[in-house]
Amino acid sequence: ERGRLVRLKSTPAVTLDGQKIELLANIEQPGDTAAALAAGAVGVGLFRSEFLFMGREGKLPDEDEQYTAYRAALEGMQGLPVTIRTTDIGADKPLDDRRPDTHLNPALGLRAIRWSLSEPAMFLTQLRAILRAAAHGRVHLLIPMLAHAGEIRQTLELIGKARSQLDERGQVHGQVSLGAMIEIPAAALSLRLFLKHFDFLSIGTNDLIQYTLAIDRADESVAHLYDQLHPAVLRLLADTIAEGARRGKPVSVCGEMAGDTSVTRLLLGLGLRSFSMHPSQLLAVKQEILRADTAKLAAWARAVLESDEPAELLLG
Ligand code: PEP
Ligand code: MG
Repeated sequence: ERGRLVRLKSTPAVTLDGQKIELLANIEQPGDTAAALAAGAVGVGLFRSEFLFMGREGKLPDEDEQYTAYRAALEGMQGLPVTIRTTDIGADKPLDDRRPDTHLNPALGLRAIRWSLSEPAMFLTQLRAILRAAAHGRVHLLIPMLAHAGEIRQTLELIGKARSQLDERGQVHGQVSLGAMIEIPAAALSLRLFLKHFDFLSIGTNDLIQYTLAIDRADESVAHLYDQLHPAVLRLLADTIAEGARRGKPVSVCGEMAGDTSVTRLLLGLGLRSFSMHPSQLLAVKQEILRADTAKLAAWARAVLESDEPAELLLG
């Protein structure tokens, strides 16, 4: 099976009815770009930059170290676009394993953009490193865990401030397109706000499912209730994809669902045209795409959306 899949590496990801699908890779380190290219990814849809920050006993990477890492990822992708997500520290990704988070609900606490905004000097350092790297390739800058208009405003202000700091230093920086993760239900229910301020959206289904269903994604005792096909989850996904299409703004999925072949056809039916996943899943997802007819799947997906038990329809 694996041998057969490898032959699909340079086959364009196009459905039976001619829809072009973008297949991107999720990476954690610049060196992962080799696996992304080997799998035939046409870009990086999610560079989880927090992995540069974790396990360093509190000594965070400085601007030059980060710049070097982001530039290495861009060069690794040989001119293909790289989506760099600002740090998603907290909850399941603590800065320092030896100092566990003692808050009662870390997943609802100071993580991701909330943490970045609480440490503006650190955040500005990261933004400057990313903007400098952007002079060497195509960078999409992605912000995790946004929910509030105020957070969006502060984030945009800090991006502007990082640019002026680089100008003052006379340092070269490049253009980026700006995206927001949709991974909190409140964000998926305020799409107008997000589409007003951002060039693209990326749906983080891992957290969107966790927060929609109130199921800790890391808690084994409730793992049986972590249901990616819950009608509420599918409704939020469908609305985000449709609203992005209506406004002509790209929408991708970069959570585990994007690499799960059991839901590829459903996501295509809901209108998704961009998937970002672990490189090891990419060719199997492509195989599903090559066999798919999106017009037929769209009609079926509407029935799935109307169902109280979507899982039964999907299996049947
Ligand atoms: C997600 O939440 O789906 C996601 C891609 O982000 P992470 O898994 O890194 O939280
Ligand atoms: Mg997430």
